[in-house]
Amino acid sequence: MEILLTREQIKARVKELGEKISADYSGKGDLVLVAVLRGSVYFAVDLSRCLEIPFVLDFIGISSYAGAASSRGIVRITKDLESSIVQRHVLLLEDIVDTGLTLNYLMQNLRTRNPASLRVCAFLDMPARRIVNIPLDYCGFSLPDFYVVGYGLDHQERYRNLEVVAALKEMP
Ligand code: 5GP
Repeated sequence: MEILLTREQIKARVKELGEKISADYSGKGDLVLVAVLRGSVYFAVDLSRCLEIPFVLDFIGISSYAGAASSRGIVRITKDLESSIVQRHVLLLEDIVDTGLTLNYLMQNLRTRNPASLRVCAFLDMPARRIVNIPLDYCGFSLPDFYVVGYGLDHQERYRNLEVVAALKEMP
């Protein structure tokens, strides 16, 4: 394993993102943070603690289909939002945007529910693997093409609780 982002780097960047998001949404009212289960949970908790504005934290659970559906980015919603997002500002919190297929699907799905606005905040961006180009409104870090774990990202359910982000070089 090679550490790519330390605990200190992550903490400082999440705080910066929190300040920027707080400034951008200040006075706009009714912000719903939508965290994508399960990878973005650690990021969502830390980021939300840095916000200085009121918000509702909600979760959407997804699971990939095998085969052709997965290559088109079609995912199954395993847990839907508790909150209505109609005419509310929505900030989607993703752990990592890789091909962009999952994000594209989620954005299309959430847009049909008529939010007042829909933006994305991704903890990690891997532009080298992008298939669908979706602009990220907020992004923690851009990384080269590695398979990474930690800070919510797993490999077969392991490593989510690492406080750093590391590249997994040899798959256990
Ligand atoms: P997509 O390719 O659709 O942008 O990424 C879909 C999902 O695959 C991400 O939300 C994340 O859960 C998972 N994923 C993509 N790249 C990585 C990676 O480098 N490490 C881990 N642990 N998961 C990844």
